[in-house]
Amino acid sequence: MQQLADMLNKMDGKSYKSLKSIQGHYDNELLRLSVDYVQGDPFAAPSKLRVFIPLHRTDFHLEQFQSPERRRAFKHFFAKTFHQVTHKTDNPVSGTGKSGMIYIDAPGQEVLDRTAVNISSAGIEFRLSCGLPAKGRSVLGKGAAKLLTEIIPDVAKKTIVTYSREALKQALLLADDQTFIRREIKDRSLISFIADGAVLPRESGISNKPLPEKNVVPFKSPDSYRTTLQLPSGKTLSGMGIPKGISLVIGGGYHGKSTLLHAIERGVYNHEPGDGREFVLSDESAVKIRSEDGRSVTDVNISPFINDLPFGKDTLAFSSEDASGSTSQAANIVEAIEMRTRMLLIDEDTSATNFMIRDARMQKLVKKDKEPITPFIDRVRGLYDTHGISTVLVLGGSGDYFEAADHVIMMDEYEPEDKTAEAKALTKQFATQRVFEADGAFTVTEPRAFSKQRIKKWFDQKEKVESKGRQSIRIGKTNISLSHVEQLVDPSQTEAIARMIKLLAKNNNTPKTMINAIDDLYEQVEENGLDSLGVFTNQHPGDLALPRKYELAAALNRLRP
Ligand code: ADP
Ligand code: MG
Repeated sequence: MQQLADMLNKMDGKSYKSLKSIQGHYDNELLRLSVDYVQGDPFAAPSKLRVFIPLHRTDFHLEQFQSPERRRAFKHFFAKTFHQVTHKTDNPVSGTGKSGMIYIDAPGQEVLDRTAVNISSAGIEFRLSCGLPAKGRSVLGKGAAKLLTEIIPDVAKKTIVTYSREALKQALLLADDQTFIRREIKDRSLISFIADGAVLPRESGISNKPLPEKNVVPFKSPDSYRTTLQLPSGKTLSGMGIPKGISLVIGGGYHGKSTLLHAIERGVYNHEPGDGREFVLSDESAVKIRSEDGRSVTDVNISPFINDLPFGKDTLAFSSEDASGSTSQAANIVEAIEMRTRMLLIDEDTSATNFMIRDARMQKLVKKDKEPITPFIDRVRGLYDTHGISTVLVLGGSGDYFEAADHVIMMDEYEPEDKTAEAKALTKQFATQRVFEADGAFTVTEPRAFSKQRIKKWFDQKEKVESKGRQSIRIGKTNISLSHVEQLVDPSQTEAIARMIKLLAKNNNTPKTMINAIDDLYEQVEENGLDSLGVFTNQHPGDLALPRKYELAAALNRLRP
């Protein structure tokens, strides 16, 4: 480490390019600093560093990170702690462009597998980016020495010395409890569990943090759905277990319906302590379905929902560069089924009305042979009865769904009530005038073929595939928009998807179907770790977080033809 300091001090005033020579490893009595990549200039993408501390110099124990879920929570905890310590540490180093910046890919509320921190029986490693300081284009040697040999080692040291032992313990116990609840959800034939006392609403439309407690009505299960669990941590937890089947969430506007659904859809991920949704957990295959006017669709069999389009347009292998509200929603469902989802989540707020319902009067006026759409209301039952795919549906506007529903839950001033019996009684008292419109069973189509050519044709010379924030991936000359893929929650997941797409395009043994291709890739990632998606082997892997298969598929599905 002293050597590095001497080198940097001597470089003071030299051209920025000379910094390249510091790539390598430097040790002090506690840690090893690895400089894996040096940026080209102070404005370019920052330099990549790693700080490794051997396990015997920490007070960590193997059992803190042995199970995959604990390991994930452990890494999440230390990425966040490192981030917080960075912000509390005095950093006087500054200069042109990104000079002096220290960055770790800190997580949000969702606990995702990510590469920002690695932990193994060898030790803990922090993966960082930093801005090596310059004035104009000449090196600020003293500043660089201070940043690399004092401030960054100091932040790493403080992180592993001053962290809250109690908070870490709670995070790991929570991970155990969450694993247990996920297993219980399966064993009890549930699709989601929402604990009593959970805080579902968020601070604002652009914040994923909980609404401050004083403004919140905590979640409280209706008695008829209350499930009680004895958690491994010793805690007894009660809450609403949503059974498999078709569940309708009804209620007046602004009574918390969409907020409940959002919590369920995020329940595919674990949340960190204090989030309010720690104990809101859903079947991990749940897919939020919405209409997505304008999306690109390629070769999707939407015929269970849409037939006889004008000009004889094919719906067995439907393609469009500008799908409508209803065709995009149909494609989203069929694609989720192709990826073997067991649970669909739909909100009236983001659905195409004509896709969801056609009422009796409309059926009389616009005859079936003039309407290409078989509305979801006539398909939802078949999806469950024939294929075991459950649906949770937020719908305040149509009682025609009462026939199809197994469970009717009414949100009343943010409190759920069981209205199933009343809703069923009403179907007898006021028989629907609707005619059932689906002919034949819901047939699930063959998985589609995988074509890497579809990806490769967009490559530029550098074969670049990169993310631009959470919502977008650039492949050479084209862009994939993921803004409506609501369960993609972290820009680092998007970056991982970009890397995965590149791998899929370059893979030698081409699998037959898209789902095979995706399954194989995830097997590979599971075996070799998320780091293996990195740009530099055995070096800084970049800032990555693991996406679900559904979101990778969503990206491939939105690739323009
Ligand atoms: P709906 O879909 O029924 O129209 P929303 O779920 O959009 O209603 O909720 C309306 C508003 O109420 C939102 O601003 C939301 O943050 C807030 N909200 C939702 N649930 C709660 C709750 N349990 N406690 C306090 N405020 C809530
Ligand atoms: Mg709503």
